[in-house]
Amino acid sequence: MTSTHVLPATEPLSRGTQAWENAQSQLTDAAQSLGYDDGLHQLLARPRREMTVSVPLRRDNGDVEVLTGYRVQHNFSRGPAKGGLRFSPDVSLDEVRALSMWMTWKCALLDVPYGGAKGGVTIDPRCYSTRELERVTRRYTSEILPIIGPERDIPAPDIGTDERTMAWMMDTYSVNVGYTVPSVVTGKPVSIGGSLGRSSATSKGVAHISLAGLEHLGLQPGKCSAAVQGFGKVGAGTAAYLADAGVRVQAVSDQYGAIYAEDGIDVPALTEHVAHTGTVNGFPDGDPLDPSALLELDVDALVPAAVEGVLTEDNAPRVRAKLIVEGANGPTTAAADQILNDLGVLVVPDILANAGGVIVSYFEWVQGNQAYWWTAAEVDERLKQRMLAAWESLVASSQETGLSLRRTATITAVKRVADAHLIRGMYP
Ligand code: NAD
Repeated sequence: MTSTHVLPATEPLSRGTQAWENAQSQLTDAAQSLGYDDGLHQLLARPRREMTVSVPLRRDNGDVEVLTGYRVQHNFSRGPAKGGLRFSPDVSLDEVRALSMWMTWKCALLDVPYGGAKGGVTIDPRCYSTRELERVTRRYTSEILPIIGPERDIPAPDIGTDERTMAWMMDTYSVNVGYTVPSVVTGKPVSIGGSLGRSSATSKGVAHISLAGLEHLGLQPGKCSAAVQGFGKVGAGTAAYLADAGVRVQAVSDQYGAIYAEDGIDVPALTEHVAHTGTVNGFPDGDPLDPSALLELDVDALVPAAVEGVLTEDNAPRVRAKLIVEGANGPTTAAADQILNDLGVLVVPDILANAGGVIVSYFEWVQGNQAYWWTAAEVDERLKQRMLAAWESLVASSQETGLSLRRTATITAVKRVADAHLIRGMYP
C-alpha cells in the first residue's frame, strides 16, 4: 500500500530531539577534547535508566484520559540521580534525556554529590483543574516509585510544576513506603521540610552570575540594561533581583507575548499584574513587543529563562547583547553557540548559570537528612559563595584553555563524571 503522505525533506526537528542532539554534540566535543575512547564516550552518552509510563487520569467530568510520563536517570556514578519534573505539552523522551544529561554535568560542575535525572509528563497544565493535576502527579509518582527515593533519585520542580506538586509527590511516596520521607523530593513547601530560600535559589543564582558577568566585562550594573525571556519561577525572580541591583530590565516575555519599557520595567508591579492576569500582556506601564524581537534587543545582558532552542543559527547573528546568561536549560543550539562565540558574546552556560536551584536542593536534602534547619541568611550566603566560586574557577580555567565558558564547563564536568566511573571500575 502506498502512502499519500509525503514528509517534506526538511521537516524541522522537534524541540526535544533538537535538545538531545545539542546535548550529544556538546558531549562529543568534550570527549574528543579529553581524548576518550568510544567505549567511555558511549558510557557517558547513554542514560543509565529510562522509564516511560502511562498515566491514566479520571477527569473531573468522569472521562478517562491516558497521559504519558517519563523519568530518565542519565548518570548516578557520583551519587543519587537528581533533576526536575516538567509538565508541558512539548515533553518528549528526547527532551527528558537531554535535560537529564545536562543535570549530570551541572551537579558535577558545582560539585554537588548527585548524578543527573529528569522527568516529565506530556500535559498542558493550564487545561486541567487542581484536583486533576493532583491525580496526575500521584499516579505518575506511583508509576516511577521503584526508581526514586532519597538515595536513588530526587525530583524537584521545573516548568509547569511547583512546591505543591512536590508536596503531592512526597506524600504519595511516603504513603506507599509507610512512613514520612521528606528527602524524596526537594523544592517542597517549608512546612513539610522544604528549605528556606529554595524557591528563589535559581533566580538568585542567575542574578549573581549576571552581575559577575557584567563586572567581568567592565560594566556597572547601574548603567546596564537587560532583557529576560520567560516570566516564570526563574525569569520573574531574575528580573526582580537584577532590577534591585540597579539594572534597567527593559523587556520581558512569556509564552503569550512580550513587553518593553525604555527606562526599565517596574518588576514588582509587573509581578502583581501577572499574578492577576496570568500574562505580561496588557501591562499598562510597558509597550507591547514582538516576543522574537526580545532576543535581538540592544541590551547589555540577555537572560533566556523559558525553554530550549530559542537562540538558533537564524537569530544568533542578530543578537546584540554583550552577555547571555542561560537561566533556561539548553536555550542555545550548537550552531547558535558557535555564531555567538565568533561574535564575541560572552555566553554563561546553563550548567553554571541556573545551578542555584540544585545547590539549594542539595542544601534542602542535607537539612532533611539531618533534621536540622538553616536560616534563610545561611542558605543565601552559602548559595552565593558556591555560585561565585564556581564562576571564578570557570573563568580562570577558560582563560587557561582559551576555550569558551561552555566548552570549558562541559569538559570539566564530563571529566569529573568519567573519573568517578574509572575509579569505581565496571561491574561485573
Ligand atoms: P515556569 O513554568 O515557572 O516558567 C516558564 C516561563 O516561560 C513562563 O513564564 C512561560 O510563559 C514562559 N515561556 C514558555 N515558553 C516560552 C516561549 N517560547 N517564549 C517566551 N516565554 C515562554 O518554569 P521555570 O521553573 O521558570 O523554568 C524555566 C527554565 O528554567 C526551564 O528551562 C527550566 O528547565 C529552567 N530551570 C528551572 C529551575 C527551577 O528551579 N525552577 C532550575 C534550573 C533551571
